[in-house]
Amino acid sequence: MDSKVMFKLSYGLYVLTASEEDRDNGCIINTALQVTGNPNRISITVNKMNHTHDMIKRTGCFNVSMLTEQVSFDVIKNFGFQSGKTVNKFEDYEGYLRADNGIIYLTKFCNGFISAKVFKEIDLGTHTMFISDVTDGKIISDIPSVTYDFYQKNIKPAPAKTEKKGWICKICGYVHESEELPEDFICPICKHGAADFEKL
Ligand code: FE
Repeated sequence: MDSKVMFKLSYGLYVLTASEEDRDNGCIINTALQVTGNPNRISITVNKMNHTHDMIKRTGCFNVSMLTEQVSFDVIKNFGFQSGKTVNKFEDYEGYLRADNGIIYLTKFCNGFISAKVFKEIDLGTHTMFISDVTDGKIISDIPSVTYDFYQKNIKPAPAKTEKKGWICKICGYVHESEELPEDFICPICKHGAADFEKL
């Protein structure tokens, strides 16, 4: 099989947010979709290594902010390339409000948000799928939603020239210096797997 065929599937990019006690957090996901219209339900799939994952498991509530084609790489870095376990991602972040469920949603680089409550969890090994009832939502702008493909071509900076030898993560640019890349390798920066690495 040509494993690159999987890249022909189209994805969006979203900031997934949750709150617990006085703590807010958010991460980037590319898997959010409406699964039924009546009742109105969406599914999200979240890597278990994300702090937001654990917060949703405990609280059962979250918001999904849909990112637009104007999103900057800094936003992706802020939410995607650091962990909420060690950093407060909203400390210096401008451009968000709180929805009726008490959870943050983005107002900048975002064309709408959906609030949801978990209906069913499915354990997928590395990830959990949360099938959830939509409880609220709002349109913020008419700027087109960014796709993962658009992000790869227009937002992600070209990789810096490096003398390093090894394997580069196509998602965040991290270089793993070794001859072979183990099949179960996980990028320490963005948590993507070996399939997203390319030999330098
Ligand atoms: Fe990475």
